[in-house]
Amino acid sequence: MRPFNDSVIYFAVVDRFSNGNPSNDNGRNPEAYDASRSDWFKYWGGDLNGVVDKIDYIKELGCSALWLTPLFDQIDGLVDVEGRGMAGYHGYWAKDFKRLDEHLAGSPEDVRVFASSDTIFDRMVGEMHRRDMRLVLDIVCNHSSPAQRPDMGGRPVKGEIYDDGKLLTSYEDDKLGWYHRNGGVSDWGNKAQVEGGELCGLADFNESRIGYRTYIKDAIKLWLDKGVDALRVDTVKHMPFWFWQEFVSDMLFHKPDLFIFGEWFQGGCYDGLSVQFANKSGMGMLDFALQRALEDALARGAGAGFELVDNVFAMDPLFDDCRHLVTFLDNHDMPRFMSAGATPARLEMGLALILTCRGTPCVYYGTEQYLHNDTNGGGDPYNRPMMEKWDTGTPAFLLIKKLAAVRKENAAVQSGSHRVKYLSKDIYAYTRVYDGDSCLAAFNRGPAAEIALENVEFPDGVYRDVISGRQISVKGGRIESLLLARDTSLVLSYCAPAPAGSGLEISFLLNGFRTAYGQRVKVTGNCPELGNWDLSKAFPLEYINDNLWLGRLTLKESAGGAIAYKFIVERDGDGVLYENRPAHFRHLPGDGRMELQHRWS
Ligand code: CA
Repeated sequence: MRPFNDSVIYFAVVDRFSNGNPSNDNGRNPEAYDASRSDWFKYWGGDLNGVVDKIDYIKELGCSALWLTPLFDQIDGLVDVEGRGMAGYHGYWAKDFKRLDEHLAGSPEDVRVFASSDTIFDRMVGEMHRRDMRLVLDIVCNHSSPAQRPDMGGRPVKGEIYDDGKLLTSYEDDKLGWYHRNGGVSDWGNKAQVEGGELCGLADFNESRIGYRTYIKDAIKLWLDKGVDALRVDTVKHMPFWFWQEFVSDMLFHKPDLFIFGEWFQGGCYDGLSVQFANKSGMGMLDFALQRALEDALARGAGAGFELVDNVFAMDPLFDDCRHLVTFLDNHDMPRFMSAGATPARLEMGLALILTCRGTPCVYYGTEQYLHNDTNGGGDPYNRPMMEKWDTGTPAFLLIKKLAAVRKENAAVQSGSHRVKYLSKDIYAYTRVYDGDSCLAAFNRGPAAEIALENVEFPDGVYRDVISGRQISVKGGRIESLLLARDTSLVLSYCAPAPAGSGLEISFLLNGFRTAYGQRVKVTGNCPELGNWDLSKAFPLEYINDNLWLGRLTLKESAGGAIAYKFIVERDGDGVLYENRPAHFRHLPGDGRMELQHRWS
């Protein structure tokens, strides 16, 4: 798996993004479409033609990955939600995982998306890849659809599932046994119930049926073959770990570079089961814990402020690889950051923070235009307004663009350790360091203040704040006087000159070594690049946190061959610790990139 930590993801609800093709607006059930865009539960017209029209806009924003709400064919009828009819405009009520929903299609033939390589989907992926952008497909394996209202164009069944148009099964007539029949979830602390019960009346797949597993995995592989670069996986909390382990293994076997991240609702460092999921499933995870802390500190004005944010980063060692977390300020399941109380300046501060901290930042569509609707507190569905403006000059747009460019080039932003340089309720500053690069970020949500920062881990010199352009001096490793106005952020970036030459880039990653002061992890091995077992020539890794050492090395002589290697720990004045096992062996490709991850033993 290759995470997107050098990228910024843009997340769009397709129906609410851009209508590039009015001919598909009505779909099969015109009752599910509202041309006036006043009924928030209905389709509003956005489609893949609209996405294609806006690819250059997203690219200019600096986002090189695009996550779209699910594209699968949806049920046609409306579902009763508190007495009103809701359509599957959001994409989470699939009936055919091998077809494109007709509201998104460029022509009626496009719905049979795997019958041709010339559909609007192919065109969109082609336009993205030509611009070096990657597509994140949003998938749901847990459930299909809830019951529909027969009086609103729906079939009187729930959970009908098709295979490229051929009916397979339904909840009412489940010949294949593909659905659980355990009723709704009532006890959210009961793992078996959460996994085997129904979520909001959604027909819940029975993953123990090999027929179902084969169907869903085959369907997703078809999308991967069409050029999908990453998967965002819905409701991972509601299926057992073994299912995800099998699923992830099959997907990575099919496409080894695929990035996969899951939505464990409210998951993150404070939810132990979700941390286990992140470490055991093989996929990354959306970081709801950081989202909550940022919302509390910056949007809702919680007194503890940045202490809440720092508490989350302090727990990074719980994760084997915190770079696999996907960070965000808000999404389609919660009020937008501004509906939660953030001013434009606080929204920009939150953006600057997720764009410079560990993980891969994800920007919800319209954030760069300060898009929000505060009806009923701005929760679902009011967090999904139609995109209105495409201004490439707003402060938020320019901030994302500048910091996305820093992330692209600065290895410390992508993979570095997180070292706190200043922390109070109102002011937060950290430096991130990796492979010779550094990035310093500072934030002030309180009154104007002047602070000094020690040991900022930058070479002495004059640096330009990426956001404002003002100049800051580092002398003797410190910034003597840093003036931070109210509600402003500052970002300094330093990139060491890149080493010349090419070869195979290997990242060594070690988990589980509880490091004490004066200890350094290195890799020794049987090739010249690792010193031919001579410890004085072993390759040093960098300390990222108490659960992660990392180092990247370019191999020339050994590329295309095989290596044997093991991890050692040098201890000041106390000799060397060896991994207590024979060496690891690995065959290597001739070029490209690979990651070798191990746990200390
Ligand atoms: Ca349309």
